[in-house]
Amino acid sequence: MKRFLIYVACLSLALVFLPAMIAGGWWKWDQKEAEINFTHPGELAGESIPLKIYIAGKNEIVEMEMEQYIKGVVSAEMPASFHPEALKAQAVVARTYALRKSSAGGGSGCRSHPGADLCTDSTCCQAWEDEKAALHKWPAQEAAYYMARIWEAVNSTRGLVATYQGNLISAVYHSTCGGETEAALEVWSSSTAHPYLQSVECTYCRHSPYYEAELALDFSAYTAALSDEKEALPVLAEGKIPLLEVVERSGSGRNLLVRIGKPGRLYSGSEVRGLLGLPSTYFQWRVAGEKIIFRTRGHGHGVGMCQYGADGLAKEGKDYTEILKYYYQGIEVENYHFLSGRQDKNTSTQGSQAPHHPAVAPADMMDTPDFRKSPGSQG
Ligand SMILES: [Zn+2]
Ligand SMILES: [Zn+2]
Repeated sequence: MKRFLIYVACLSLALVFLPAMIAGGWWKWDQKEAEINFTHPGELAGESIPLKIYIAGKNEIVEMEMEQYIKGVVSAEMPASFHPEALKAQAVVARTYALRKSSAGGGSGCRSHPGADLCTDSTCCQAWEDEKAALHKWPAQEAAYYMARIWEAVNSTRGLVATYQGNLISAVYHSTCGGETEAALEVWSSSTAHPYLQSVECTYCRHSPYYEAELALDFSAYTAALSDEKEALPVLAEGKIPLLEVVERSGSGRNLLVRIGKPGRLYSGSEVRGLLGLPSTYFQWRVAGEKIIFRTRGHGHGVGMCQYGADGLAKEGKDYTEILKYYYQGIEVENYHFLSGRQDKNTSTQGSQAPHHPAVAPADMMDTPDFRKSPGSQG
């Protein structure tokens, strides 16, 4: 009798829980977890910097250690399959950007989320993802390998930042430049303080899917995209040819000012990029039948490090410091602890103690949210 009761109890449990487990996909999840067996290598020693990160999907601010945060940025901002030296360059750039913006680095924090040093929204600060999300976006059999590459890139550059004349640089970057990066001065009038952000030739990003691309828009789609732009109407002339005219180009060939309509209105290149959904302001067009065909180069604003270009340079044998010095002219790569020491010395006469406050250039419009538009990169 006792044995019978145990048998009934077991059967009931199985009947209740087994369907729930199967329906919930529990067994699949467990299988995937088992396949992704990423063992965390030891962290390198060194002082850590706590950051307050606003997690966009969860609407909460969590405290995170700098190097941990950088791992999530590198995996979200650059394909883990890129060359190890490109991943290291990305880690240094992401760390520099984060420190300059954080209160620990003397920055004013995320503009959209008061109380946070940075947020995980790529259109505002830098993209970031947690380790579980990163592991599950890769094929299960490769996930541990990719995660190990991210860890290696971050650990081997621990604490390293890019500086210009002793100050943290405005470490802006983008996906693909398309042949030549853009000088900051062409994009932001207040950029005289950033002599390290010059235009440099870059064909190292040729392997990017965005190096050159075409986007064909029917006249109807083109007109619809500009339908809210009352001053730009009419956007088509009587012969149905789009009234679109470049008024000013930058030295690298990107469109700075474009007139749409007649008399129409002047738009910045990035406004047109946003309205028409183009990958960059580096575009030309032609009319074919009832279509306007945009030929674009690159993806992103084009200023600072070209991520695909970093990968291309690494494949040609350049290391991460050479890559950084190529895209940010005249910079140094150094540990932020040296910066804090220098800052302590500079401020000691004023009686200020700031163990974690490196010298930082004043905030400027280069850190404004509309500077970064494309997902997967700041550009
Ligand atoms: Zn933000
Ligand atoms: Zn490039």
